[in-house]
Amino acid sequence: MENQQETPAGVETDEEFPDEFQCCVCWDLLFKPVVLACGHISCFWCVFKMMNRQGVSHCPVCRHPYNHFPSICQLLHFVLLKLYPQDYKRREQQVLGVSQ
Ligand SMILES: [Zn+2]
Ligand SMILES: [Zn+2]
Repeated sequence: MENQQETPAGVETDEEFPDEFQCCVCWDLLFKPVVLACGHISCFWCVFKMMNRQGVSHCPVCRHPYNHFPSICQLLHFVLLKLYPQDYKRREQQVLGVSQ
């Protein structure tokens, strides 16, 4: 007798995410992703914290210089939110310092 039950979607707490969605600074799931001029993707806050306010900033991975503050990639933001809602929520609380 077989009693196979499918696990309902959305109950797992640790969602796996591929390297493409991993921030190159904090090694966690990207949160509010920004795409730098060199093509590297990082969280908005990770880039923000590493920025040089006086002059040219550099990519934390390849040291590629950039002058303009990159804007959040809205498309990727919504993709991540849809694919990894729990991890994204966790990241949001981490970043915003919310403890609930
Ligand atoms: Zn990050
Ligand atoms: Zn780079």
